[in-house]
Amino acid sequence: MFSTGEKPGKGYYRCVRCGEVIYLNDDTDTLPPCPKCHNTRWTRA
Ligand SMILES: [Zn+2]
Repeated sequence: MFSTGEKPGKGYYRCVRCGEVIYLNDDTDTLPPCPKCHNTRWTRA
């Protein structure tokens, strides 16, 4: 499980609340809040 503000690395992440999937395209990218539901918890998709 990952949180908004972490830099877990390149890849796809799924919002644990609504299932929205986002893509971080660089290892220095920071996880945002979910654009749909503003949840801050993510799992690797
Ligand atoms: Zn969400």
